[in-house]
Amino acid sequence: MSTRVALIAHDHKKDDIVKLTGEYLETLRHCEIVATGTTGSRIAEAHGLDVQRMLSGPHGGDLQIGAQLAEGNVDMVIFLRDPMTPQPHEPDINALVRACDVHNVPCATNISTARMILDALTLRVAGRV
Ligand code: PGA
Repeated sequence: MSTRVALIAHDHKKDDIVKLTGEYLETLRHCEIVATGTTGSRIAEAHGLDVQRMLSGPHGGDLQIGAQLAEGNVDMVIFLRDPMTPQPHEPDINALVRACDVHNVPCATNISTARMILDALTLRVAGRV
């Protein structure tokens, strides 16, 4: 079964996640991608990736991804949060990050950590680890 990667970015981070996913496109093409609504649209439009889109984050998308994760159906999370802007769905965001900790799922909340996770994923996809 291919690795299932969740991608989420707050509004001020959406350009960043589009750029980041573009850099790792060949790796991500070998994975199953799930994303919150708007993030998923941006990534699918920019790169032609097949993305399973959940609801938009403020409408419950983070919780939907958290539920998939709790059932063992998400292997890693890239969640580019905006630390400078209050979010109406802060409890949902915290719930998803908590679910990652409960289930020991790698979760990157900034670009540097995201690159480390995606570098590791690239090696895995290449069959080197
Ligand atoms: P969005 O949701 O991709 O639908 O914008 C992300 C979020 O705000 O959690």
